[in-house]
Amino acid sequence: MAYKRILLKLSGEALMGDRQYGIDPTRLADYARDIKIIVDKGIEVAIVIGGGNIFRGVSGASNGMDRVQGDYMGMLATVINGLALQSALEDEGIFTRLLTAIKMEQVAEPFIKRRAVRHLEKGRVVIFGGGTGNPYFTTDTAAVLRAIEIGADVILKGTRVDGIYNSDPEKNSDAIKFDSITYKDVMNKGLKVMDMTAFALSQENNLPIVVFDMNKKGNLEKVVSGENIGTIVDK
Ligand code: UDP
Repeated sequence: MAYKRILLKLSGEALMGDRQYGIDPTRLADYARDIKIIVDKGIEVAIVIGGGNIFRGVSGASNGMDRVQGDYMGMLATVINGLALQSALEDEGIFTRLLTAIKMEQVAEPFIKRRAVRHLEKGRVVIFGGGTGNPYFTTDTAAVLRAIEIGADVILKGTRVDGIYNSDPEKNSDAIKFDSITYKDVMNKGLKVMDMTAFALSQENNLPIVVFDMNKKGNLEKVVSGENIGTIVDK
């Protein structure tokens, strides 16, 4: 195995599957099965999940809603997704804990770094809900922040595209994929891997990012075993 402790970032939109909104239970179950494979191999798994399938603060703001209010709605959406993911993982017989950045004690444990690390050491999958707990941030930033805090070896950003390209592969058929790229080249070429805040935080802390297609069965295991199927961003 290439990594011992990973932080998997899943976007809320990924949970929609083919739907326009909400959560697709089949997609969720597929993810849970893929996660089980790596948990069974002894990988310590932490997950940050987005909320874009339910609510985004910016879209609220564009409809006239107060941005901060919308962002809190977005953070709560990530908790809903976290609960759904927790349930799907439990159906696979995996022990899990949901830790939230905003206290909601009847629903989940509050995030405490040492506690998160202890859960991981015991082989539990830790899901971080509520983003960073602050408006104007994204779950990508939460993912990098938590990864650094818990000492993860890498961020695995599971997307529907199989890596980073020199242009949008969904629009240009001649787009070229990078197997690996430096933080600096991502910046110089103006490529979009994560938002600027998240990206800068990972660069500053030398936290490698692997972008890969999470929707292909078995890909998560391949990435964790060190197979280069996506794009790795490193120094
Ligand atoms: N959000 C926030 N602070 C955070 C994380 C998330 O305010 O630390 C809000 C923000 O409104 C965002 C929404 O939660 O639009 C959902 O998160 P995100 O857009 O990152 O989800 P994803 O794109 O991964 O589905």
